[in-house]
Amino acid sequence: MSTRNTRQKRRDEVVSKAKQPNHMYGYCRVIGCGKPARAGTSDGLDTKYCRAHAEHLQRHGSLHKGSYGAKELNPYRQAALAWLLDNEHEFWVKNAIQRMQGLYQQAGPHVEAFRLRGLRPKERAMAALARLRKHEVDPRLVIAAWLAVEMTLRDDPQADLKPEFKRVQVAKVVHRMASGSHKRWEREVHAPDRLGRSPRIVVEELHVYPRSRGRVLRHLGEALEPAVELLVHHHLDAVHAFKVERDAKGKYDDRPYPKGWSARPRKRQPDSA
Ligand SMILES: [Zn+2]
Repeated sequence: MSTRNTRQKRRDEVVSKAKQPNHMYGYCRVIGCGKPARAGTSDGLDTKYCRAHAEHLQRHGSLHKGSYGAKELNPYRQAALAWLLDNEHEFWVKNAIQRMQGLYQQAGPHVEAFRLRGLRPKERAMAALARLRKHEVDPRLVIAAWLAVEMTLRDDPQADLKPEFKRVQVAKVVHRMASGSHKRWEREVHAPDRLGRSPRIVVEELHVYPRSRGRVLRHLGEALEPAVELLVHHHLDAVHAFKVERDAKGKYDDRPYPKGWSARPRKRQPDSA
C-alpha cells in the first residue's frame, strides 16, 4: 500500500471515530440532569458532569448542597470558640492547638496575595496557612471553624456527609480569615487638583484578596483535618451540647466570634461587658 493510501485510510478512521458518540463521557452523571458532560471548569476537576454540576461541585464541595452562609455558621462558630476557651485545660484541646501551630510553622514562607499567580493549588493552600501565621490569626479560631462545620452538618437533616463537603466548607471560612494583602504608597502628581495645587502627593492603595478556588480549598481542608480530628472524636458531643444550651439564652447569628473577638488580632479587645 502506498504511503498516500495509508494516510487516507488513517484519516477516514479518525473521522469516523469522531462521529461516534462517546458513551463513557456522554452525559452528566447526576441523576435526572440529562445535560452533556464536559470538562467545564478551569480546575478540570473531571469529565463526569455537565458544566453547571462540575462548577457547583468545585465551588461548594457538593453536587447538590450549597455552601452554608454566615447566619447559619455564626452561632456554631461562637459556641465552638467559647467552649474552647472554657476547656483549654483538656488534653485534646491543647493537642489540637499544638497541631494547628505546627501547621502554621510548616506552611513555608509568607507569599503576598500579589504573587500567588502561577502557584499550584497545593502551594496556594500552604500560602493560605502562611497568611494565617503572618496575620497572627489565633489557631483557636481555625479549630472553632472546623467544630462549627461539624456541628452544622450534624444538625442539618439534608447535609451532604461526604468528607469533601466538610473540608471545603471549613476551608472557605478559614480562607476568608487569612484575608488579603494590602499595599499603600505615595505618589507625586503634577496635574493640579480642583484648588489648583500642584505638585501634590496622593496616596494609592492596592488590595488583593486571593480567590478561593476549588482545588485550593480541598488541599486546605485536607491539611487542617488531622489537626482537629481527635478533638472532634473526643469532644464534639460536648461542644454540641454546649451550643444547644447557649442558644437557649439568646440569638448569636450576627457575628462569627463572641463579642470582643476578630480574626485580626490588632482589633481584639478584652470583652468589657
Ligand atoms: Zn449536570
